[in-house]
Amino acid sequence: MSSLFGLDQSSRLVFVSEVSRGLACQCRCVVCEEPLVVRQGLVREHHFAHASGREPCDVSHESLLHRYAKQVIQDAGGLTVPLDDQVVAVLGMTPALAPAARLPLPKVELEKSLGAVRPDLLGHTDLGVTVAIEVAYSSFCDMVKVDAFAGLGLPVLEIDLSAFTPEAFSPLAVRDAVLDAVSGKAWLWPKAAGLPAEQPSVQALAPEPLGDLPKARLPEEVVTISGRRVAIKQFQSGDIAVKVIGYDPDVVSLVKSIAKANFAHYSPKWKSWNVPRWRAHIVRTALRAKAETVSIHLQDRNRS
Ligand SMILES: [Zn+2]
Repeated sequence: MSSLFGLDQSSRLVFVSEVSRGLACQCRCVVCEEPLVVRQGLVREHHFAHASGREPCDVSHESLLHRYAKQVIQDAGGLTVPLDDQVVAVLGMTPALAPAARLPLPKVELEKSLGAVRPDLLGHTDLGVTVAIEVAYSSFCDMVKVDAFAGLGLPVLEIDLSAFTPEAFSPLAVRDAVLDAVSGKAWLWPKAAGLPAEQPSVQALAPEPLGDLPKARLPEEVVTISGRRVAIKQFQSGDIAVKVIGYDPDVVSLVKSIAKANFAHYSPKWKSWNVPRWRAHIVRTALRAKAETVSIHLQDRNRS
């Protein structure tokens, strides 16, 4: 159920804060297309209501987010995406040194089936390459779906919009997250192994530039916090495992609080916190911020 979105006179999806009050907005319900009015109750913020006084129609916030993201990308004619060699090759772009660039998408389709998969959005680049875009809200794209995209040779970009609940929705912040931000975006396929692009502090400490790491090997990172070593191991999926080596109640409790705040699960068997890939970068950054030293080790290919 949402009473926060309506359709304006040009059938564009508008958030309630983007329109004026009363009937002046000429908005219609996204489901039944009945006229809407903007109300502000004593306890609720501004919201849409059917002008007829009828109960609000049912529509999921997630599907509205898909539609909103599509509109934002379509209006801008593309979006900024993170880049690496594999992505550049698949997209047919000119190799560049920049870790991110604008990807022109003159055409964007909503929830269109393609073989066995139905991406949230399907974009078509100016070079004629089709790109799937998954909007991560209540769930993130699982490996089965990623494999299906890979089987089709369809590059798939995931955009994390999980922060934008109905209460926290902000048209400007969503526009920024969809169009300009790089941090909440990841290519699920093709996917380069290794660390996320933005790590100036670690590059300075690493024995060799991270860009030279062989793609098939995953680096293991060891940060030292209060004299204790904390290992961060990345899996092929992008998930990471965080493990305190040795025992120090303060360090264990610090790692636990960072991990738990980021949807990690504890593995008693490995005595490590397993962090889902969409929070991996946040956890890594938080641990580094607490660390005295950071070092990167190459894992043996057989162990990763
Ligand atoms: Zn309605």
